[in-house]
Amino acid sequence: MEINTTDIVIIGAGAAGLMAAISAGRAAHDAGKSLRIIALDGANTLGAKILVAGGGRCNVTHESGSANDFAGASPNAINKVLRAFSFDDTALFFRELGVELKRESTGKLFPVTDSARTVLTALLDECRRCNVEIRHPWRVESIMPIDGALRLRSSTGETLDAARVILATGGRALPKSGSDGLGYSLAKALGHTITPHVFPALAPLKLDQAQTTLCQLTGLATPATLEVRAVTGKRLHRTTGDTLITHFGLSGPAPMDVSRRLAAARFDDANAALVINWLPGETPESFDRRLLDASRNTPGRLLNERLPERLAKWICEQAHVDPKAPASGMTRQQRKDLVEAATQWPAPVTGDRGFTHAEATAGGVPLNQIHLNTMQSRHCDRLHCCGEILDVDGRIGGFNFQWAWSSGFLAGRGAVSAVDG
Ligand SMILES: Cc1cc2nc3c(=O)[nH]c(=O)nc-3n(C[C@H](O)[C@H](O)[C@H](O)COP(=O)(O)OP(=O)(O)OC[C@H]3O[C@@H](n4cnc5c(N)ncnc54)[C@H](O)[C@@H]3O)c2cc1C
Repeated sequence: MEINTTDIVIIGAGAAGLMAAISAGRAAHDAGKSLRIIALDGANTLGAKILVAGGGRCNVTHESGSANDFAGASPNAINKVLRAFSFDDTALFFRELGVELKRESTGKLFPVTDSARTVLTALLDECRRCNVEIRHPWRVESIMPIDGALRLRSSTGETLDAARVILATGGRALPKSGSDGLGYSLAKALGHTITPHVFPALAPLKLDQAQTTLCQLTGLATPATLEVRAVTGKRLHRTTGDTLITHFGLSGPAPMDVSRRLAAARFDDANAALVINWLPGETPESFDRRLLDASRNTPGRLLNERLPERLAKWICEQAHVDPKAPASGMTRQQRKDLVEAATQWPAPVTGDRGFTHAEATAGGVPLNQIHLNTMQSRHCDRLHCCGEILDVDGRIGGFNFQWAWSSGFLAGRGAVSAVDG
């Protein structure tokens, strides 16, 4: 059996793996080390997730951010990694690769070409310039420590030994792209544990159609405030943003952002609920006052001032209120029901649409098992980890890529500093 030996192998050539490869290539050059760096990927198509990101435009990063934009590991740990390769560093990095970024009103940064291909091509070109070899499809099936190296075996029986391995296999979101969770088994084989829950983040939410007719408004989008509440009524999380009603339930930035918070809350409390305020900024009290002051105005018109007509009508239906009758004619109970339907609607969420439709993974390798200045494993000296395989997930807006760039940068540099040139 022929066994190849190399200095650094990166498993997974997605966003984090490509950044780790570039960072390693540059660090080796700067340190005057002559190292053989290989990035392996199991997929036939490289960078599938970069290409589909941001609707094909690739939301590369955000104008700024901090651990508050992420969930999973401790804020201190996340900030430490983000500081080492910041949001500004990302913008500069891509500019130097010839990818000019533009800022949208939400703070998201996209390539000016509006094409994710620009981003992927720039990363692959830079890998080439840094003498990184990319082999694919080369799916790593197993990993084991041997004397002085780690031995990787592929699904076709090939073997590769490496002095250092960077695990950048991603999580489980969009499994057809190649990130199907095998990376967790590889991490476990080298002594890591995985968080008790690994679950979809940024996933659309399904509603119980037996309990609500909301899905009949499919295609309708409106800003809304979504709140995750414990069974005690305690607010656990709140987000405001565009909410899209679909044939299965809810999609768009706000429902997707809130999905992992609801799922996490339900691990502890199966009755944790999602409550929707269709009138962001309005409280039950302020809307009640508005109805009281409305006199001859109708609830339908009042709601329609801020909401699409069909949604305004649907809200009135929930409270058994005639949208066209003067508000002054409503009973106290009708007013109470209307206030609740408009500002505190309990969405009957049965769950999310799973990894196939999720944009990220919550859970993974805990950050406290990693040295954060090099992303080196605390369980296996020869291993470094970066990207979505770690227990960090960001909200919508370019934060998941930022995590891939920051952690990938550290892992590449860290691996080089640990290898003799
Ligand atoms: C539809 C969609 C849209 C998104 N849009 C955005 C966006 O606009 N902005 C943003 O910030 N984030 C976005 N994300 C999230 C972002 O794409 C991911 O967080 C990010 O790509 C994670 O990078 P990664 O390198 O850690 O993992 P991945 O990108 O998943 O890459 C992992 C790579 O490892 C390979 N691999 C896995 N196992 C093995 C193995 N055993 N052997 C060899 N190779 C292996 C896979 O083939 C894959 O290429 C989006 C995600 C999805 C699904």
